[in-house]
Amino acid sequence: MALCGGSLRFLLSKSLKKPLPGCWLVLNRNYSAKDAVNYNTNASAQVLDSELYTQDHLALRETIRKIIDKEINPFVDKWEEAGQFPAHRIFKILGNAGILGVNKPTEYGGLGLDYSYNIAVAEELGNIRCGGIPMAIGVQSDMTTPALARFGSSELKKEFLAPTIQGDKVACLGVSEAGAGSDVASIKTKAVRKGDDYIINGSKMWITNGVQADWMCLLANTSDGPAHRNKSLICLPMNLPGIHVARKIDKIGMKSSDTAEIYFDDVRVPCKNLIGEEGMGFTYQMLQFQEERMWGVANALTPMQNAIQETIEYTRQRKIFNHPVLNNQVVHFRLAELETEVELLRSLLYRAVALYVKGNDVTKLASMAKLKAGRLARELSDSCLQYWGGMGFTSEVFVSRFYRDSRLISIGAGADEVMLSIICKYMGTLPAQK
Ligand SMILES: Cc1cc2nc3c(=O)[nH]c(=O)nc-3n(C[C@H](O)[C@H](O)[C@H](O)COP(=O)(O)OP(=O)(O)OC[C@H]3O[C@@H](n4cnc5c(N)ncnc54)[C@H](O)[C@@H]3O)c2cc1C
Repeated sequence: MALCGGSLRFLLSKSLKKPLPGCWLVLNRNYSAKDAVNYNTNASAQVLDSELYTQDHLALRETIRKIIDKEINPFVDKWEEAGQFPAHRIFKILGNAGILGVNKPTEYGGLGLDYSYNIAVAEELGNIRCGGIPMAIGVQSDMTTPALARFGSSELKKEFLAPTIQGDKVACLGVSEAGAGSDVASIKTKAVRKGDDYIINGSKMWITNGVQADWMCLLANTSDGPAHRNKSLICLPMNLPGIHVARKIDKIGMKSSDTAEIYFDDVRVPCKNLIGEEGMGFTYQMLQFQEERMWGVANALTPMQNAIQETIEYTRQRKIFNHPVLNNQVVHFRLAELETEVELLRSLLYRAVALYVKGNDVTKLASMAKLKAGRLARELSDSCLQYWGGMGFTSEVFVSRFYRDSRLISIGAGADEVMLSIICKYMGTLPAQK
């Protein structure tokens, strides 16, 4: 593949946890330091000011940007209309470039880098001209595999983690059910031991990649014990008898990402597909959520910035009453205020990520960032759309797609109120539940 994936993978696997500054730029003839810094004036201005990113993060972003420009963005409108993008084809391209497992162990095909690189990837993927495809990629790279990588047996990692990182298998995460979203502890899907197998019955709802997935990281009840200690994570191949993809759900946004409702009817899966210890699934999933939430925040920063930038450009050339819309103080002040909010969110996220990379529990900061990202995306997309007038109400501009897509941030991966409950727990203000 001509996307420099091979050299990128080589460089990163060589550099492991301590990449040499600028080493990609030296070794990869496609790049120069100047290119890496200038490829996107906006993004580079932000990242060069950042304490989180080095030239290596920037070079990684540049590689991703090339893939986005060549393999993804030209087709986004078509895939949005079709209600699905070709996950196997796109994940294979990303897998070849080493992008689906940047912080995963090298022995399973990952790049062995620290989590700040996942955040750089997530930010760059925000340049895709819709929310659905980055979300699907994030599910593959950062939402289905953290627990498997950390707690799974080497046999399981070979069977599920390695091909997911390489882009040979599409993964999905099966946590939510029709009757249990915010209250994860109340899921009903059961995996009952019978000999060396689990027999699975139940259903999952809202499953991103669910129509195309080859395997699911499934959360199921494996005993009748207390709700936080009776659950397990299981690697479930999606081609087993008894698995029914009931429907692809029609949504107001995230159109190119397929979202499925899935039923399990006496599905038999070997007990060796259990991730880590039986009964630890709830805890593993809560840990996994930390990465999912930080990834989601990073991914939201770029379209927020792009929406502001494109609104500036549009309102600068759009004249009403003989003056550019942008020249109204209420407009440029509002955009300045939103830009400030985006930078505040970025600082909060980078602080959480820096602490996480050092091994700290960042549940409180990650929850705050996720809460703020959802709130800000709603406010920002609404304000920007307003300044586009009638054009903002069409499907022809990025800002209206962002308005629809970003509404999910306050709902998925834990609604705003769930984030508030977690923050309250850390503040010691959440009343004890009876
Ligand atoms: C497009 C899309 C993709 C998704 N992808 C996946 C996936 O891949 N895998 C997966 O497992 N799940 C996925 N989800 C599910 C998602 O995580 C849930 O929708 C989310 O957790 C909310 O659950 P719920 O929809 O059941 O809402 P409910 O739990 O019914 O909550 C409804 C509302 O109640 C409010 N609420 C919640 N808690 C409180 C509280 N303590 N106090 C006051 N109000 C509260 C919130 O406003 C919330 O939005 C996806 C959802 C969507 C829409």
